Amino acid sequence: TGAPQGIPTVAGAALRVPLVTGETVGYANLDHAASAPCLDAVRAKVDEFLPWYASVHRGAGFASQVSTKLYERTRDVLRRFVDARRTDTVVFTRNTTDSFNLLARSLPRHTTVVVFDTEHHAALLPWQGPNVRRIPTPRTRLAAVSAVDEALADSPQGPRLVVVTGASNVTGELLPVAEIAAVARKHGARVALDAAQLAPHRRISIREMDVDYVAISGHKLYAPFGAGALIGRADWLRAARPYLAGGGATKLVTEDAVVWNDGPERHEAGSPNTVGVYALGVACETLSRDWDAVVAHEQALLARLRKGLESIPGCAELRLFDAPVDRVGTVSFTVAGFDPGWLAAVLSAEYGIGVRDGAFCAHIAAKRLIAVAGGEGQQAIRVSLGLGSTEEHVDRVLLALRRIVARGADWEYAKVDGRWAP
Ligand code: PMP
Repeated sequence: TGAPQGIPTVAGAALRVPLVTGETVGYANLDHAASAPCLDAVRAKVDEFLPWYASVHRGAGFASQVSTKLYERTRDVLRRFVDARRTDTVVFTRNTTDSFNLLARSLPRHTTVVVFDTEHHAALLPWQGPNVRRIPTPRTRLAAVSAVDEALADSPQGPRLVVVTGASNVTGELLPVAEIAAVARKHGARVALDAAQLAPHRRISIREMDVDYVAISGHKLYAPFGAGALIGRADWLRAARPYLAGGGATKLVTEDAVVWNDGPERHEAGSPNTVGVYALGVACETLSRDWDAVVAHEQALLARLRKGLESIPGCAELRLFDAPVDRVGTVSFTVAGFDPGWLAAVLSAEYGIGVRDGAFCAHIAAKRLIAVAGGEGQQAIRVSLGLGSTEEHVDRVLLALRRIVARGADWEYAKVDGRWAP
C-alpha cells in the first residue's frame, strides 16, 4: 500500500537497497526521527532555485536579490509555521543543537535553567554551571508540571528559563508544554521548546502554548541538512554577544570600533546557507497545508506498529510516562536476548529496513527507561514513522522481528568497526 492521498510525498519513496542475498528491495526508512526524507515539493523547489542562489545581503545582482528575498521571506514563513508573536525574531542556525547553543550563549548572567534530565543532549548539555537545575522526569505528566513548579519555586529570583521538549525523541510521547509554560509564567520564567521532534508531526503554536523560544531542525522537517532556526523573544538575543563574529553581523566597523547588528543578522555572520534556509521554508509550508492528514496517517501506522510489537516475545517498549499519552510515531524497545545493534544490522542486511539503535543522544533517558520497562542494557532499537512510512514498512519490520526472534541470535554476524555486519 502506498501513501494515502492528502499527505505530502517524499523523494525517498522509490529507493531500492541491496540485501545480503544480492536481491534489492524497496527501502523501508523507519528512522524519520533521526532525519526525515526530503519532500518531493522541497526537491522540486530547490532544484528550481539552485541555478539562482547567490550571496544574500551582499550583492546588487539580480540573483543576489532573488536569494536575499527568499531568505528574508523564510523568516515570515517560519514565524507562521510556529504561530509566533509579531515581535518574535527568527535566527537561522544549523539545527536545533546550534539553536540551543546560541540561546545558551545569549542568556543574561546568572540565569537559572531548569531542564528534565531525560532530554536529548542538544537540550540538556548547552546549559552548564551552578545555575542549572536538572530534574529527574517524573512518571506522570501532572507530576512533571509540579516538578517544574517546585524547581522554580526554590530557585533564586532573576532570569529563569525552563527547557522542555515537545515530543521525546526516544518514546515519541508529548510533554505537557502548555501546562509547564503556565507554571513558568506564574514564576516569571521563560520557556524554550525543543521542537525538533514535535514540529515534523504536529502544528505548533508559540502563542497557544505560550512559550518564549522554539528550536527546529530542517533535516527532521523533510528538508536537507544544514538549516534550522531559533524563533522567539528578541530582547536577550539583541543584547547578547554575537554568536559568530564576522561579515554580515555588523552595521559598521572602524579602525577602533564595531557596531553589531540588532536584528537576527547579529548571530548569522558569514555567508549563510541560503539553499538550506529556502528548503526549510518550503518544507514548513508544504507540511502545514494539511496537518489532519499528516496526523491521521502517522497515528494509523503507529497503532498498527504498537499492536504488532505486543506480540513479539520479549519486546519491552520504553515509556516516559506510566499512563498512555498523546505521542508521535516514534517507538523504542528492547527485545530480551538480542543486542539492539545486532538486531538493527539484521533488519538492514536481510530486510532492507533502516532503524536506529543505541541510546539516541539521550543517554540518561535510554538507561532509565530501559530499566523501568524491565529491559536489558542501556541501548534500544527505535522505529520512527513519518510521511515516508507505509503499512508495508510497518508489516515488514513486524514480520522481520517475529522471524528473527523465532530463529534466535544468529552469530554469523560479527562486529566490524563497532557495527554489526553480516
Ligand atoms: N532535540 C531532539 C528531541 C532531537 O531528537 C534532536 C535530534 N535527534 C535534537 C534535539 C538535535 O537536533 P539536531 O541534531 O538537528 O541539532
